Amino acid sequence: MRRIALLGLGTMGAGMASNWLAKGFELTVWNRTRAKAEPFAAKGARVADTPREAAADADLIVAMVSDDEASRAVWLGADGALAGAKPGAIAAEASTLSPDWVRELAAAALVQGLSFLDMPVGGSRDAAEGGNLVLFVGGDAETLEKVRPALEAISSAIHHLGGTAAGATWKLINNMMVAVQMAGAAEGLALAEKAGIDRRQAADIIANSGLASRVVKSKMPRMGALDFDNADFALRHMAKDLRYAQALAGELGMTPEMLKVAGGRYEAAEAKGLGDSDYAAVLHAVRE
Ligand code: NAP
Repeated sequence: MRRIALLGLGTMGAGMASNWLAKGFELTVWNRTRAKAEPFAAKGARVADTPREAAADADLIVAMVSDDEASRAVWLGADGALAGAKPGAIAAEASTLSPDWVRELAAAALVQGLSFLDMPVGGSRDAAEGGNLVLFVGGDAETLEKVRPALEAISSAIHHLGGTAAGATWKLINNMMVAVQMAGAAEGLALAEKAGIDRRQAADIIANSGLASRVVKSKMPRMGALDFDNADFALRHMAKDLRYAQALAGELGMTPEMLKVAGGRYEAAEAKGLGDSDYAAVLHAVRE
């Protein structure tokens, strides 16, 4: 399992590619916008023209793209990775996707003679660059063991949660809790400002108190300074994750109220044109 194809070189894919190359894996990359792939050629990667071409020689094919539509585009169709993959290869989805689409994709991979893992990731830009992602894996244990060395090259922890789509399901639950925490912190900061308390000071207090989870702590400098450029995790991705989480909860007969309210905050921020900003910009949806 030394030959890897990676589809998608955004914030997260770029870090994963760098680690695989640094650790001696044979990497072929493809990105919709080719300019983002070229720098990896200088580091030893082969740059493919299509997902199909990227997948052709690979033992492990990994996609790290935005959402269900992007995933569908890279795996399916005449130029998609499934059309090029050799039987026996392993297809893995690292993007945060809906479990329904993940199950459909796993079935399509099986038809092509491939095994499939969903393996969305925990951790952001720093963890991707440092090879310290946390992987939430769905699929069979035997398939996971075949690719474990490749996955260990990009991660510090691998959690096998069950069969197909178990990783995708957990990832949505994970991000639902992150989003609720961050929207709550944003409301606290907005109320503090209204009450005449300095926002930076309040952000600093939160960051250094028991109120802050690691993820909230990491966003307090951005919220304090209203600095949401150069997103580590784009707000539009969080809004997407919450839509998928709501659909999942609905299918399971649950209406999580916190998720509904937080989802509304991220949708409002996206409607204000903040989709490309870091998701800490949810503060703008609650700050009047
Ligand atoms: P990103 O920086 O926005 O990159 C998105 C990638 O998807 C780019 O390579 C983009 O190609 C590609 N893409 C988008 N639409 C496409 C389409 N229709 N066809 C083909 N390619 C398409 O996103 P990211 O932050 O790396 O996140 C990637 C995934 O990981 C998302 O599902 C996100 O929710 C999840 N995630 C992100 C983080 C984080 O902190 N950033 C953490 C955990 C999980 P172009 O370059 O051509 O636009």
